[in-house]
Amino acid sequence: MHKRIKDLSQWLKQKGYTFAFINSIPNIFYLTGFYCDPHERLLGLLVFPGDDPVLVCPGLEVSRARGDGWQGEIIEYSDLQDPWELTSDLIKFKVNDQNIAAVEKEFLPVSRSEALMKILPGLQFAPVEEKLIEMRNIKGLDEITVMREAGKLADRAMAAAVSVLSEGVTEAEVAAFLEYEMRKAGVPRMAFSTIVLFGARSAISHGVPSAVQLKPGDLVLIDMGVVYGGYCSDITRTFAYKQISPEFREIYEITHLAQMEAIKACQPGNPISAVDKGARDVIVAAGYGENTGMRVGHGIGIEIHEYPSVSGANNDLLQEGMYFTVEPGIYFDGRGGVRIEDDILITVNGYESLTAYPKELQIIG
Ligand code: MN
Ligand code: MN
Repeated sequence: MHKRIKDLSQWLKQKGYTFAFINSIPNIFYLTGFYCDPHERLLGLLVFPGDDPVLVCPGLEVSRARGDGWQGEIIEYSDLQDPWELTSDLIKFKVNDQNIAAVEKEFLPVSRSEALMKILPGLQFAPVEEKLIEMRNIKGLDEITVMREAGKLADRAMAAAVSVLSEGVTEAEVAAFLEYEMRKAGVPRMAFSTIVLFGARSAISHGVPSAVQLKPGDLVLIDMGVVYGGYCSDITRTFAYKQISPEFREIYEITHLAQMEAIKACQPGNPISAVDKGARDVIVAAGYGENTGMRVGHGIGIEIHEYPSVSGANNDLLQEGMYFTVEPGIYFDGRGGVRIEDDILITVNGYESLTAYPKELQIIG
């Protein structure tokens, strides 16, 4: 049995839960190694406290599940069959009398919880997230190996984007070029919609690349990441094209300093809030407290946003294996913004930045 499923199974036993039902794409991937978007079809993993796990899988995905290494039992169904009918007897047979299912409270559709309650009348639900968040929060060596590659690819994509910055190029063209380069490098998909923004548009946090053309004096904000081996990277750099105003040069230097101060706080045993504080103190002292974001970063892994949240309100302690972004920014609506973002892994005695594209101010062209 996969080590992670074993851990979950032991947790179910400790808690006295009847079984766990997992149906989100990232959690199924985390537990089985099988990455699959089943669209509207049911793909579900049943984990029991004292018995082998079972994957409920659409027939057309079974060979891929086996190919990705799933060696456990599979309940396979066709589009003409009801997977819940095929699963019902098995669930009834394996359950104890506690009648509590650990489910993804954030991701279990009402229709599926009703189907489970129909099989086991009176069934109660507990959040399986309690255990899975704890597990996914600390990355293992196998995960770190692919995360490093995802970081390197993001660096390469940034270099590719910079190589096509020239007068008249559009935001959409730069985004398309860097994504094309990543496709050719074997990246199956970007970690999120690539952001390329010129000039005043660089102040838009989640702006969409448009037909706006690059002109001298523009800031260029590029925020993107790739998925490699199932894991995300996420990097932001802000450049100037041909020239930069003294004001934005200062804003850039403050943002850069803020990011380095935040990263300095990335030490095991420090509270997570110290990372946010490291950046925020620099930005507030410079007088731009009203122009920065709500939190300095977010956990990253199989999902582009996951635990831990890197905010001033999170007093959990940093631990070896935690992985998150540090991305302070200073933004002026209608005028422009600067953000610098790297992906930081907490190590046994400090940190490692898995993205490494240079971040001294670059004036391109
Ligand atoms: Mn980003
Ligand atoms: Mn980010």
